[in-house]
Amino acid sequence: MKNKYVFAGILLAMITAVSAAVIHFTTITEEPHEEREGALEVVTSFYPMYIAAENVIGDITDIHLTNMTRPQTGCLHDYQLSPEDMQTLSGADAFIINGGGIESFLDTVLKNYPDLPVITASDGIAMLEVKTFGISGPEADMDKGHDHGDRNPHVWMDVSKYMQEVDNIAKGLASLDPAHADQYRQNADRYCEKLEPLQTEAQEITRDAGQTNIIIFHDSFAYFADAYGLQVADVIELEEDNTLSAGQLAHLMQVIQEKEVKMLFVEKQYSTKVAEAVAKESGTRVYVLDSLVTGDGDPDSYIRGMEENLAVLREAL
Ligand SMILES: [Zn+2]
Repeated sequence: MKNKYVFAGILLAMITAVSAAVIHFTTITEEPHEEREGALEVVTSFYPMYIAAENVIGDITDIHLTNMTRPQTGCLHDYQLSPEDMQTLSGADAFIINGGGIESFLDTVLKNYPDLPVITASDGIAMLEVKTFGISGPEADMDKGHDHGDRNPHVWMDVSKYMQEVDNIAKGLASLDPAHADQYRQNADRYCEKLEPLQTEAQEITRDAGQTNIIIFHDSFAYFADAYGLQVADVIELEEDNTLSAGQLAHLMQVIQEKEVKMLFVEKQYSTKVAEAVAKESGTRVYVLDSLVTGDGDPDSYIRGMEENLAVLREAL
């Protein structure tokens, strides 16, 4: 008799354990891409927008955030929408983009989803012009590395402009989801407070920078230079593993000499081979910066990346 109860007890415990496991399993199979009932589906175009939105949304529970592209996709130059991207967008209640033409596929998105609310983070932010003064002539037409139009859309590389983007995202989400307006505002303010020290630190580093001429290998660094008082003597845009033509190289050597350039700023996300060769030839030094378009998804990854950039700048100056 007693054994019977023990057996029943064990059986009951087993059933409980199994059902708990089933419930747990169901929970974890609910992957991020699956739409959840009642939750606001927010989609970002690429990494820097994802990190900004992640901080603005914070711990608000019934918001579901998805980054349309992969965390290692990088800048969206020449990005082609995939069927998966279109599917992600089909369930979206809001699409957060940087704007300024960097999402060159936006027309296609709007054609397919004319009712999708789009939050443009760079709204109202003064953009730098794309500088193509370096390589001019017929070779400029061949340089198709960047096709963003006349404005340089990489505003997130200037911390103060990035803070404006965070603010725009908070305002955009608040108008779509007024119930959480206060929380978006508070989260955005808290994030901007965390970004603030980057400004003070940069001012300290660049106080004695004076007229420092640099050459940059991606026009996202134009904002970094602009924010910290460095002069961009030339912009070189390379495609993937492109090499410089003899003409480009000669031009570059001339600019380096004329403007007494000592530093070449290259992007972590691309090969530094060409820059290293130029540096060797010209006696300049190569510094590697992060354009903050890739990462591990950690909400603090922008801050960490920018801190690393500032450490590079400190070393360079
Ligand atoms: Zn770019």
